[in-house]
Amino acid sequence: MACLMKSLKTPVQTLVKALNLGILSLGKCQMSTSDSVALNRMFTLKKKGMDYVGQVRVRSENPHARIEVFNESYFEEFDQPEALVRDYLTEKVLSRLLKDKELPEEVKDLIQEHIEYQELLTEKKETVLISSNDRDLDKIFERFNSEYFDNHIQAEIRWGRDVKSRNKSGFRYGSYDEQKRIIRIHPRLKQDFVPISVLELTIYHEMCHQYAPSYKRNGTWQSHHPEFKKKEREYKNFKEARKWEKHNWHRLLLPSEENSESVTA
Ligand SMILES: [Zn+2]
Repeated sequence: MACLMKSLKTPVQTLVKALNLGILSLGKCQMSTSDSVALNRMFTLKKKGMDYVGQVRVRSENPHARIEVFNESYFEEFDQPEALVRDYLTEKVLSRLLKDKELPEEVKDLIQEHIEYQELLTEKKETVLISSNDRDLDKIFERFNSEYFDNHIQAEIRWGRDVKSRNKSGFRYGSYDEQKRIIRIHPRLKQDFVPISVLELTIYHEMCHQYAPSYKRNGTWQSHHPEFKKKEREYKNFKEARKWEKHNWHRLLLPSEENSESVTA
């Protein structure tokens, strides 16, 4: 269990690093005299040569901490949802605030409380992030390369184009270009109803083509020969994925629903 939690956390830490929120400087402390606001504090963020100005407010009502960036274009700098960037930025500003020795104890307590509450919420968010991230071709490829192939597979992997032609005989999950060493995966496998094991088996299958190359026997090229099939069955969810494919392949003949991408964005 502990091990699982650890592995779930890693992608998020990478994401936070990748977010590059900018260089943060805090302005002077301004204590408010009104009852509802405990503290107002300006800050600036330097990012890609731009200065963005914002303000953090800490108060006793909920939520205890609130952040504003006056230049809304700041949030356009990220390819992540604004709410997510806002949460990470809030975390960054608050943890900096806590280091301020002149900060009154009651403000510190409010911030502490806010952070603890946010951490509860973040656990939920991480799950969402990870599930949208688990169709990352390079990651799966690299994981399989070390798990099953001793890192011997050398290929580039990418999503193929969704060709509109109607194919009634079957669905082509993926392909491997032996000359160029490129694995292409059918983009319809991005859809949520397709089990991850099916996407994984497709990737694994194409990797097996490099591991167990085609050969000519009795004048014909054999690509799915016994050695290939033996290796292919090593994939741990092989049976489950094959079973799904057998019963559902026809669902993949239709182009992806056009909305399916914008919903997750
Ligand atoms: Zn094949």
